[in-house]
Amino acid sequence: MILSEALQSVTQTLRRAKIADASVEAEVLLGHVLGMSKTGLYTEPERSLTSAERERLRRLVWRRLDGEPAAYVLGHCEFYGIDFYVESHAFIPRPETELLVEEAVKLAQRISRQGEQSTIADIGTGCGAIAISLALALPQAKIYATDISPSALKVAGVNCRRHGVNGQVELLQGNLLEPLPQAVDVIVANLPYVKDCEFVDLSPEITEYEPTIALAGGRDGLDKIREMLEQMRGKGGVHLGEGPAYLLLEIGQGQGEMVTSLVNDYFPQASIELISDLGGIERVVKVGL
Ligand code: GLN
Repeated sequence: MILSEALQSVTQTLRRAKIADASVEAEVLLGHVLGMSKTGLYTEPERSLTSAERERLRRLVWRRLDGEPAAYVLGHCEFYGIDFYVESHAFIPRPETELLVEEAVKLAQRISRQGEQSTIADIGTGCGAIAISLALALPQAKIYATDISPSALKVAGVNCRRHGVNGQVELLQGNLLEPLPQAVDVIVANLPYVKDCEFVDLSPEITEYEPTIALAGGRDGLDKIREMLEQMRGKGGVHLGEGPAYLLLEIGQGQGEMVTSLVNDYFPQASIELISDLGGIERVVKVGL
C-alpha cells in the first residue's frame, strides 16, 4: 500500500464512523505513524508503507474508531502553542483554558514590575499544561503544581522534563491547596466544574476515557471550588502572600453569577471580575484578595 492510498482509506474509514474532520485526522494519524509533516505526506504520495507501519496505523485507527480521543491515541496535544504528552490518567487540556494562562501571565508580570518575582500555584494540574505554560512564559516565577492523583502527576513530570522546567515547577501530591509549602501570589485553578446533571450529557469520548475526577463537580458543579475557598479561608488566608494576591478560576457556561456570590460569601472584601472567552462565555473568575 502506498501513502496516497493509505490516506484515502483512513479518511473513508473515519468518515464512515462519523468522525468530524475525518481527512484532517487521517493526515494527523498517518503523519504520526510515518513521522512526517502534513506537507511531507503530499510530497511523497508514492512512498510505500512497510508492514510494521501498516500495522501501527491499523491499531491507531482502531482505537480512534473505538471512541478514544485523538490526543490519547496520538499521545500528545497542543496547548498555548506548546506540545504536551497526554494519556488517559490526565485530562486533555482545552483551548478555552488558555485564557486562564493569559490572565495569570498578566498578573504575574504586574507583580514582577513591582520588583518581586511572583510565586504561582496551579491547583489540580493534571498533565501540567497550565503550570508549564506559565513557567515557560515567566522564567523568573516559581510555580507549584498540585494534584490529588499520583498518576496525573507522573504525566506532569514527563512534561516538565520534556520542557526543561523541572527546577522551576514543583509538583506536589495532595488535595487542592493542602500540599503547598508556602504562601503564593497567584492561585490558578481549572478544577472540575461539570454539574452531575450535565455530566451524563457529555460525549462518551469524554466520559469513557478522560478522568471523571477532573470533570465532575457534584450537584451544582462547584464542590471543588467551594472546598478550595474553604481551605483558603480556613487557614486565615495563609495560602496567599502578604501583598496583593489573586485567585483565577476557570468556570463553565452560566456559572459566573453563582461563583461570584460563592466567592463573596467567603471573601466579602474581594474584588471579583468575570472574563469572557472568545466564544463570549464567562470563563474566568478573577478575584483580587
Ligand atoms: N471544559 C471542560 C468540558 O466541558 C470541563 C473542564 C472542567 O470541568 N474543568 O469538557
